[in-house]
Amino acid sequence: MPELPEIEQVRKTLTPHVLNKIIKRVEIRLPRMIKHPSPEAFADILVGQCIRDLKRKGKYLTFEFGTNIKMIAHLRMTGALIVTDDGAPEPEYAKIKFELTGGKMLWFCDIRTFGTLHLVINDDVRLPGFDNLGPEPGTKELNVPYLQEVLKRRKASIKGIILDQEVVAGLGNIYADEALAVAGILPQRPGDSLNEKEIEKLIKAINKVIKQGIKNHGTTFRNYKDGNGNQGRNQDYLMVYGRKGKPCKKCGAELVGTKVAGRGTTYCAECQH
Ligand SMILES: [Zn+2]
Repeated sequence: MPELPEIEQVRKTLTPHVLNKIIKRVEIRLPRMIKHPSPEAFADILVGQCIRDLKRKGKYLTFEFGTNIKMIAHLRMTGALIVTDDGAPEPEYAKIKFELTGGKMLWFCDIRTFGTLHLVINDDVRLPGFDNLGPEPGTKELNVPYLQEVLKRRKASIKGIILDQEVVAGLGNIYADEALAVAGILPQRPGDSLNEKEIEKLIKAINKVIKQGIKNHGTTFRNYKDGNGNQGRNQDYLMVYGRKGKPCKKCGAELVGTKVAGRGTTYCAECQH
């Protein structure tokens, strides 16, 4: 599933192709991916809108038109937004096609089809996942007193807690495992067992792994591609994720694979406590 760095890379790579382009036509091949309003109204309203800005919040992308309308895209498991030139072969698994001025096509492609699009008009619809997002990594809002307050009431695993988008926006399975490895904290520790020093280490680690992921254009394990259809390179820099049974890069011990918060989890039993 694309996480914050992957979505940020999609935003960066799409922006030069779509900015100030007008949507000429919308072709919806899988109507259930349009969550609001009806697919017909969605297409009707978008035609003639000019894309004035492309923003990211957590794992969501927002297309802004400089009007009372915005389009919110969530790629979920396997969604991808890809731009091609008009006449170029269409990308695989194309479900929704936006014809733009300037000879560009914007495609919402999705293998497993859990991705969603919402058109929000005058804030007429609430997206609970979008409206209740917690602070982003690398911002001053994600600080020790904030996380201390969150954790003191929570017995759940620290990994499960940092995967909660209302606690921290943008982390998924890859960057949660990586942050806990960098911080030296066991993923299954109850949230309320972390002391102040550990919380500080964890925040620094979250900020570090997200920054590194962005620098490396995201992590590609299976399907993630950016707006140009290219893969990321962060998979070569990971400490633990996807490395079960391999030696820890710090101490050489064999990395352990288990399940925490219902998710596949990899950690080093020597370096993480
Ligand atoms: Zn180790």
